[in-house]
Amino acid sequence: MYDLVIIGSGPAGLSAAVYAKRAGLNMIIIEKNPVSGGQIIDTYEVDNYLGIPGVNGFDLGMKFREHADKLGAEFVDATVTGVECVDKGSDTKAPVYKVVTDNGEFETHTVILATGAHHSKLQIPGEEEFIGKGVSYCATCDGAFYRGKVTAVNGGGDVAVEDAIFLSRFCSKVYLIHRRDELRATKILQEELFGLDNIEVIWDSVVKEIKGEDKVTHLVVENVKNKETNNLDVDGIFVAIGIVPSTDLFENLIDCDEKGYVIASEDGATSAPGIFVAGDSRKKRLRQIVTAVADGANAVTSVQDFLVGKEK
Ligand code: NAP
Repeated sequence: MYDLVIIGSGPAGLSAAVYAKRAGLNMIIIEKNPVSGGQIIDTYEVDNYLGIPGVNGFDLGMKFREHADKLGAEFVDATVTGVECVDKGSDTKAPVYKVVTDNGEFETHTVILATGAHHSKLQIPGEEEFIGKGVSYCATCDGAFYRGKVTAVNGGGDVAVEDAIFLSRFCSKVYLIHRRDELRATKILQEELFGLDNIEVIWDSVVKEIKGEDKVTHLVVENVKNKETNNLDVDGIFVAIGIVPSTDLFENLIDCDEKGYVIASEDGATSAPGIFVAGDSRKKRLRQIVTAVADGANAVTSVQDFLVGKEK
C-alpha cells in the first residue's frame, strides 16, 4: 500500500516525485513512455524556463528525471488502464484506490494524475493514411527527413510557429497555414518567424485534404474567406493545432470539463477525495513547463495536508 501513486512522468509528475520523496511519502511514479519528460522531449528549444534559457527539451527532461532519481524515486514502466476506488475513506480514514496497469496493480491512499496531453488531429481525408509518410506531429522528431524539401506546418500557436522556424533551418521552403489572419503564438516567436525568408504564411486557410500516392505530394487548401481551394505541393505536413488532455481513463471517477480537462481547485484537488491533478491535463489558463512543475509541487503539498490525521 502506497501513500501516493503519481501517474505520468512529464514535468508535473517529475516535480511531484521530487517533492514527494523530500516529504518522505511512500510513493511510486508510473510512466508509459520509455523516456521521461512528457511533451518537452519533442521540443527543440525551451527558451522560457527560468534560469535555463535556450535549453533543449530532451535535455531538460533528462535533468528533471535525474533529479527524481537522485532522491530515490521509484519508477514503474506501465500503461495505466484504470483507477478504481476500493474504499472511499472518511474524515478520519484515508481512502484506498487501486491503480490498474498492464504491469500489475498498485494500491494507494492518494493519486496524482499527471498524464498531460497529446496532439490533436485534423481529422481530414489522408491524415491517418499518410502518418509516417509525410504526415507528422513532431517537427523535432521527423524534421531531419525533410532536408532540402518543401513542408507545411498547420496551426498558429507557439508549437506551430516554433516548428516552422525549426524546419526553416533545413527545408528549402516552409508554408505556415493558419485558419485566421493573426497568430496566437507569442510575439517574440512571431518576430523570428516573419524575419525568415523561406517561410511563407498562408492566412485564413485550412487544409481540407492530404493527398499523395506512396507518400504525401500535395495538400488541398481552402481559403475560409472566399472559399477558393488550391493544391499546394509539399513533401510533408506537420500538424500543430493544439493538444487534447489524456484523461479518458479517469472521466468516470472525477469531474472534467467539456474538453476533458480535469476540474480542480488551485491546490490540485479533484472531485474525488484523495485524487489530485497536476500539469496540462487540468483545467487552467496557462499550460507551460513552469506551471506544470508548480502544479506538481502544489499537488504533493495537498496530498500531505489530505493525509494528516487520517488513519491509513
Ligand atoms: P495552441 O496554443 O492551442 O494553438 C493551436 C493552434 O492551432 C491555434 O492557432 C489554433 O487556431 C489552431 N487550430 C486549432 N484547431 C485547428 C483546426 N482544427 N484546424 C486548423 N487550425 C486549428 O496549441 P499549441 O501551439 O500546441 O500549444 C499548446 C500549449 O503549449 C499552449 O499553451 C502553448 O502556449 C504552450 N507552449 C508554449 C511554448 C513556449 O512558451 N515556448 C512552446 C510550445 C507550447 P486559432 O488560433 O484560430 O485558435
